[in-house]
Amino acid sequence: MSMMDPMPEMCTRECCARPCAKNPRTGEYHKFCSLRCSRMHKQRLDDEPLPSKEHSFAFFIVLYAKLSKSGTRKERDN
Ligand SMILES: [Zn+2]
Repeated sequence: MSMMDPMPEMCTRECCARPCAKNPRTGEYHKFCSLRCSRMHKQRLDDEPLPSKEHSFAFFIVLYAKLSKSGTRKERDN
């Protein structure tokens, strides 16, 4: 590697430690090391559930756990 070549940046996708691919025609670096990583990264973003949806589901679980706990405690006290 000569001094003129800039260090390639790492692949944008998490869990990927490979350097970005270089466009042989333009000499510019891509955001990802491969087209596969680019697709997987995009897919991961699409698959992420909506935060509000996830939050309400977690809230329901906590509420349910609290209700069932208090229910058994009452039975035990009586
Ligand atoms: Zn990659």
